[in-house]
Amino acid sequence: MERKNELNNKNVLVIGLAKSGFAAAKVLVKHGANVVVNDMKELEKNKEAKELMAQGIEVHCGSHPLSLLDKPIDFIVKNPGIPYENKLIQAAIEKRVPIYTEVELASYLTDAEIIGITGSNGKTTTTTLLGLMLEGSPKNPIVAGNIGTVLSEVADQANLDDILVAELSSFQLMGIDSFKPHIGILLNIFDAHLDYHGSRDEYGKAKARLFKNQTDDDFCIYNADDHEVTSLIKEVKSTKVPFSTKQILTEGACLKDGFIVYNNEPVIAIKEVVLPGKHNFENVLAATAAAKIAGASDKQIQNVLTSFSGVKYRLQYVETVDGVKFYNDSKATNILATQKAISAFEEPVILLAGGLDRGNEFDELIPYLKNTKALITFGETAPKLMKTAKEAGIKVIEHVDNVEKAVPVAYRCSVTGDVVLLSPACASWDQYPSFEQRGDMFIEAVHKLR
Ligand code: ADP
Repeated sequence: MERKNELNNKNVLVIGLAKSGFAAAKVLVKHGANVVVNDMKELEKNKEAKELMAQGIEVHCGSHPLSLLDKPIDFIVKNPGIPYENKLIQAAIEKRVPIYTEVELASYLTDAEIIGITGSNGKTTTTTLLGLMLEGSPKNPIVAGNIGTVLSEVADQANLDDILVAELSSFQLMGIDSFKPHIGILLNIFDAHLDYHGSRDEYGKAKARLFKNQTDDDFCIYNADDHEVTSLIKEVKSTKVPFSTKQILTEGACLKDGFIVYNNEPVIAIKEVVLPGKHNFENVLAATAAAKIAGASDKQIQNVLTSFSGVKYRLQYVETVDGVKFYNDSKATNILATQKAISAFEEPVILLAGGLDRGNEFDELIPYLKNTKALITFGETAPKLMKTAKEAGIKVIEHVDNVEKAVPVAYRCSVTGDVVLLSPACASWDQYPSFEQRGDMFIEAVHKLR
């Protein structure tokens, strides 16, 4: 049951502003909580902090003073990016103050059904697909979470005719207590953010928290091809709905006789699905299963799958120049994503990769480089990637300054029928403020080739 009134007079410390902390602070104040805000960014440069101050909210900027814990606090709302090692968070844990992320507030703010989507890769694609598939269905879909509007802000406005389609990260799920999605989707588990979670075990457990409050009225959609996923969901209490790109299943979603099938009923012919890449079938199957459970029509699912060609920066088709196709997969910030991207093509691939060095090697890429005829590399990891490419037997290996310079070099190495793929296998932060900006530089450089 919705518990907005429980927020009244609660003493809440919001740590870390940005978009989600700012929205959380506003929603808490609206429902009568006594809010104190703390953010590392200096007040002069802190637009959100200034705006909250102007509304009469107590704001502390520039550091995380332990004195903030001197007053009684009912709970903390922590920005998902702040690590648990932070001294203020550690001190709060010692004092047994509950530490939530703003996602937890959604369970106070609405009784609208929620679909939560998590996994290492494919969250945004699946969330986007599902949001579209649910258009015109009995409930009005609102896409939220990591992908756009802050979940608690959306939850506060939602009514029972709405269904919230929320992309959720492991960081966000670490900070939930009573949050309960009616449908939860766990796409896959791959080494990511181990710097934050400490170990893969902890990372997996954080993802599986999505299902912790579900009951037998709810649904757990999971990847039956991923052993880690299947072991993590063993104990869930909700109805388990598997999806698989490799096995024929009698329940759930799979590929069978050239069709996408749900509970043994064909939904659409595989050849009609326009989204490129085999890995995207995981996302398509998961979204289809959730859409069917939530009451979407086959017609609408078909409409989406025959028209949706990908989210920007995720294996996004950019342009064909002289018979060479250019794809922008700047969002591939880890090795798994790049493996999947390369595997999506039958054509010879010229791979553009490199970026922030997180200390890992790239040996896991080698088996996937069979179709790769050239590597153009940049950024901190360039030397490591050059070593990997040599071991994989790639003949053309070029080290360039950045993505902008990589594009004309790749074009020069290409012949009609090749694919030039930006799929860096690394985060962008050594050279670009975000993967979006890295992707935009790629698009611009491709357009300049004309
Ligand atoms: P997320 O939101 O989880 O980061 P995205 O949909 O934004 O996922 O895709 C991120 C990257 O992962 C893209 O480079 C994409 O090509 C790749 N990817 C998408 N779906 C999958 C999947 N199911 N398995 C592996 N890689 C995937």
